[in-house]
Amino acid sequence: MLDNLTARLDKAMKSLKGEGKITEVNVATTIKEIRRALVDADVDYKVAKTVTDEIKEEAYGRDVLIAVKPGELFTKIVYDKLTALMGGEKKEMNLSGNPSIILVAGLNGAGKTTFTAKLANHLKKQNRQVLLAACDIYRPAAIEQLQTLAGQIDVEVYAEPENKNPIQIAENAVKYGKENGKKVIIIDTAGRLAIDESLMKEIEEIKRVLNPTETLFVVDAMTGQDAVTTAKIFNDRINYDGVVLTKLDGDSRGGAALSIRRVVDKPIKFIGTSEKMDGIDAFHPDRMAQRILGMGDVLSLVDRMQQAYDEDEARRINKKIRKNQFDFNDFISQIEQIKKMGNIKDLVGMLPGIGSKLKDFQIDDDAFRPIEAIINSMTDHEKANPDVLDGSRRRRLAAGSGRTIQEVNNLIKQFGEMRKMMRKMNQFQGAGGSKKLAK
Ligand code: GDP
Repeated sequence: MLDNLTARLDKAMKSLKGEGKITEVNVATTIKEIRRALVDADVDYKVAKTVTDEIKEEAYGRDVLIAVKPGELFTKIVYDKLTALMGGEKKEMNLSGNPSIILVAGLNGAGKTTFTAKLANHLKKQNRQVLLAACDIYRPAAIEQLQTLAGQIDVEVYAEPENKNPIQIAENAVKYGKENGKKVIIIDTAGRLAIDESLMKEIEEIKRVLNPTETLFVVDAMTGQDAVTTAKIFNDRINYDGVVLTKLDGDSRGGAALSIRRVVDKPIKFIGTSEKMDGIDAFHPDRMAQRILGMGDVLSLVDRMQQAYDEDEARRINKKIRKNQFDFNDFISQIEQIKKMGNIKDLVGMLPGIGSKLKDFQIDDDAFRPIEAIINSMTDHEKANPDVLDGSRRRRLAAGSGRTIQEVNNLIKQFGEMRKMMRKMNQFQGAGGSKKLAK
């Protein structure tokens, strides 16, 4: 996410972080480089200029030149400015009302339908009863798309495929939701390929009639400055409450994340980080600033872990580890848990200092594929009893999984080492060590 920008800023600030003496020229060059990096990341030019002017003023005001650790002080100044630029505090959605009604609007292809389902999934994890309303009556297959996504996350969809009146459908959905005890109703509206008057009128009207508790505008971060322009036009018409910035994974340069708040004066509330149902993060300006500056985002990582964490499964595996019974079934289950946390590259990118270095590497869920193929070629008996895997069985696994015999050997060797380590850990704990894991 925003790896290019991170790398550029890191480079720009290097001279201030080194051992050499810091001069006024250094600071001025660094600030100029930061401005260029921001503009290249598609940050609105005026916004980039204002923010770097502010950084300059602050840097001289706080006398970076004579600070004990000028690099650190300077980074802190940039961090504070970027956080403020993105709105400072995290802004929550308004979920008052019974039910609360969330209206989702945006252009076609922005990721509206995907976000609608992701948000339902996010709220469902907080134990809220959610209903989705399919009001995109124009795009062919939009209803089916929402139904398919909702099926994956087990959330109900209200649809009327024959009805061509989105306002009526939305009203009926709210009525149905009330009757069926739903606490949040999320309304997926129709978009258009580009902004047009009939679209604006329709959304204005839906908003007026439904009086939603929260209106969210969804926009594709990859469209850079266009995203900001569209956000402004929509806001002028429907005065929404928050922005959802999708596709911040991939090649997005990130400019929209940095400019929208200043230009539109509405907070970003969520970001989309993959096509999958768990590719959604609440937007925290401070955490995003940390990520952009390559400081990682350990807090978001912990959020993801908590969401994906299956306590019963963790307890079960713990028990098996303690009894020295960890086998290939458990190993596969662990891989599943990791995959549930989302795109691996994205996760590793949340670790401090790693984001920008990973820019050119491709790590994704596919990285697990060879391992899964080999384990899936094992019989149940082999998975539960890894010690029986002799030469001929290994050759069979290689043939069955389409992997080389070396890969099979490596996996089994690494697995053996993992088990050895677990055994050692158990001995250590048995010898009066912590019993914490044994809960
Ligand atoms: P809509 O027309 O606004 O409803 O857009 P869709 O929800 O159909 O999304 C358009 C495309 O963008 C689909 O292929 C989605 O899978 C993809 N998409 C949506 N959100 C994200 C995201 O956060 N990251 C990535 N990489 N793709 C996304």
